Amino acid sequence: MDDLYATLGVTKTATADEIKKAYRKLARVHHPDTNAGDPKAEERFKEISHAHDVLSDPDKRREYDARAAFGGRAPNGGGFSGAGADGGGFGDFADMFSSIFRGARTGARTASEPAARRGADVEVEVNLNFEQAMRGAQVPVSVETPVACADCGGSGAKPGTNPRLCPDCKGRGVRGRDVGSFAFSEPCPRCGGNGTVIDDPCPTCGGSGHTSTRSQIKVKIPAGVKDGTRIRLKGKGQAGTRGGPAGDLQVISRVSPSRLYTRQGDDLVISVPVTFPEAALGAQVEVPTLDGRVKLTVPAGSPDGRSLRIGGQGAPRLKGEGRGDLIAKLRVEVPRELSADQRKALEKFSKLDARDPRETLFS
Ligand SMILES: [Zn+2]
Ligand SMILES: [Zn+2]
Repeated sequence: MDDLYATLGVTKTATADEIKKAYRKLARVHHPDTNAGDPKAEERFKEISHAHDVLSDPDKRREYDARAAFGGRAPNGGGFSGAGADGGGFGDFADMFSSIFRGARTGARTASEPAARRGADVEVEVNLNFEQAMRGAQVPVSVETPVACADCGGSGAKPGTNPRLCPDCKGRGVRGRDVGSFAFSEPCPRCGGNGTVIDDPCPTCGGSGHTSTRSQIKVKIPAGVKDGTRIRLKGKGQAGTRGGPAGDLQVISRVSPSRLYTRQGDDLVISVPVTFPEAALGAQVEVPTLDGRVKLTVPAGSPDGRSLRIGGQGAPRLKGEGRGDLIAKLRVEVPRELSADQRKALEKFSKLDARDPRETLFS
């Protein structure tokens, strides 16, 4: 990330007045009107203007300082963010800034200070049983973390040699493109944005500058995760190269199904068997919840498949507070075998129940 303060030749603590003065002085010297036909002066003038544009606006300056503190990435909070709860529109805004900043790069980088690059995001899956998903868990996750190659010291060049300045982009790492008043840029195709090329790659790391090691970290899985929920851990992904920030670790929960419950959003559904007399006469039955048994009143005359809601006994909400509901779905069981007395009783019942349940099929 470019140092806009350096572009204007001021310190990071410069006051608004100091920034204005520095800008005016430099703008006079490099103004295209006084340097007609000199593309370097024009480029320099653009850089100065961009730096002034950002640093003279308190909001933009704060944003820039924050980005600089985060190694060029937009600060996005930390710790957990549930599925899809990512930075949102902020990312695009930051990316646009990043293009402008890169476009406004001052002078050529030297081979000894190549471009810092953010590490890649890493995805890992963790297997959880249903109980763990409902209560939350600490799970060890094995991640591959690159460390600077000991043989080349991270440069990627064969020991005894050095990377050299990329001849295509002169170490800038970017290929510039002017679109209207914005200077957009893309990574230099020859050096991939590094600003340097390696003629003799280090045999140990193959020129990447790092080798990897496995390490274990404990990941806190919040209560209420679903199968497929992604948890993003900022900066726990692949290490950045050349001082760049680390990528993110994305932990994807794989939740095994429960023997008792199926999930509907934040509600849990349980199938509750009841006898025919319980359904017909009404009953108090016990139902297992995540927190133990609760008594459920089955109203008299409950049809098969009736859903009864038990508030607040569902899954913990990942976003927001509290829990969903437990939905008890009644399943009226038909006895497979009958004792002689039961048979007699049912035969009597059948005679007393003169109604024809199939009547409506033919009317
Ligand atoms: Zn190496
Ligand atoms: Zn290049």
